[in-house]
Amino acid sequence: MTRRNADHDAEVIVVGAGPAGSTAATYLARAGVDVLLLEKTEFPREKVCGDGLTPRGVKQLIDLGIDTSEDAGWVHSRGLRILTGELTLELDWPDLTSYPPYGVSRTRQDFDDLLAKTAVKAGARLYERTTVTGAITSPAGRVIGVEAKVGPEKTPVSYRAPLVLACDGVSARLALSVGIQKNEKRPMGVAVRQYYKSPRHDDPFIEGHLELWDRSDPRDPKLLPGYGWAFPLGDGTVNVGLGMLSTSAAFRSTDYRALLRQWLDGTPEEWGYREENAIGKVGGAGLPMGFNRTPHYRDGLLLLGDAGGMVSPFNGEGISAAMESAQLASEFVVQALARREGPSRERALEGYPRAVAELMGGYYRLGNVFAKLIGKPKVMHAATKYGLRINSILPLVYKGLSGCYDAKGGDGVDRLIAALARATPSPR
Ligand SMILES: Cc1cc2nc3c(=O)[nH]c(=O)nc-3n(C[C@H](O)[C@H](O)[C@H](O)COP(=O)(O)OP(=O)(O)OC[C@H]3O[C@@H](n4cnc5c(N)ncnc54)[C@H](O)[C@@H]3O)c2cc1C
Repeated sequence: MTRRNADHDAEVIVVGAGPAGSTAATYLARAGVDVLLLEKTEFPREKVCGDGLTPRGVKQLIDLGIDTSEDAGWVHSRGLRILTGELTLELDWPDLTSYPPYGVSRTRQDFDDLLAKTAVKAGARLYERTTVTGAITSPAGRVIGVEAKVGPEKTPVSYRAPLVLACDGVSARLALSVGIQKNEKRPMGVAVRQYYKSPRHDDPFIEGHLELWDRSDPRDPKLLPGYGWAFPLGDGTVNVGLGMLSTSAAFRSTDYRALLRQWLDGTPEEWGYREENAIGKVGGAGLPMGFNRTPHYRDGLLLLGDAGGMVSPFNGEGISAAMESAQLASEFVVQALARREGPSRERALEGYPRAVAELMGGYYRLGNVFAKLIGKPKVMHAATKYGLRINSILPLVYKGLSGCYDAKGGDGVDRLIAALARATPSPR
């Protein structure tokens, strides 16, 4: 039985069926909410990504009831290998109360399809090939639905609901349509990736390259800007890519595809990261970080995942945050819908931005400071040259970078990260 009134097409409209949208739609549908999930593409479809999840992301899959075993098609990682020019460190994922001790990889072609199917199975109505062009607002400025174009004919349609969730990713078209701009002072990233056939496809570690070297002249290797990764996919291929933060001087002037080639041509031949082993095209996109778009709730519109700038400034991971924001948003939306429209419902909805800020805000504020520091090559080089050799600070670096720490309880390192996150002042 639906509680939706006759003027509405759903109780909640979710725009975008990426990790944020499909997760939110699943939780809402399971709670008995009538959800319309609008997606501009058609599944299965590719999405440019590193395809890697730390244990923090795996926890989200487990919460959704998804089987994360290797038998179910997930490639497990036991930890992170950190590489600099001179140093290689292999660190197992920490064993924590909050997160499992393994990460996973899976192409987004599969991953997003699986999440969307989970939402549909839960009861959400998924409309594919439906591009939302903007919000419909009431005379008082409240979001009461969305305008969309459907199918190849781009047939205009409108859908109405008392609440709308913007899960449309970095483009944030919906938020922009009601004037929610991004904060240019927060860091932004750009990342590119390419798939390679490689014997390293079943490596049990995912890799983070803290330094990228151009070795075209072996007598004079040059440090390149940016950071790289290699995430094995277990199917004969590895997802290899690099990213850069807006805090880096080279951010705007870089040809990212050329930079990827320059770096990979200097990696060992036997790894296979060469043009002849490349599959498909190099893909790239922006990484909206550190809460660069707020407020996360205003006038009937909630911002989730990339649409709310929720990529981690520490490591570029955005899937776990997208899913965490979806879990929180759905809790507050379910409570809100059980109240009359008006101040009491608004009070319930105001809980969402507070809960997101409590979960990620302090850690991201710390991350924004970190992003500023590592934008300076000298600071970054000193940190990798000396800092990573000090065994006692490694767990701090590792847990801090991966976001895999127990925010409550945990060991001394976990408590230190949580305390630093709390103590970092809000940026202006
Ligand atoms: C090169 C690269 C590598 C990355 N690697 C990783 C990684 O390894 N691990 C990780 O955790 N994160 C990674 N990220 C970040 C990660 O991809 C994002 O943070 C994550 O996808 C955010 O999820 P989301 O649901 O918020 O948005 P998205 O995944 O972008 O989903 C948005 C959805 O909305 C749809 N949509 C967009 N506009 C509209 C519209 N107008 N109407 C209807 N539908 C619309 C899109 O088609 C899409 O399905 C990487 C990003 C890049 C660019």
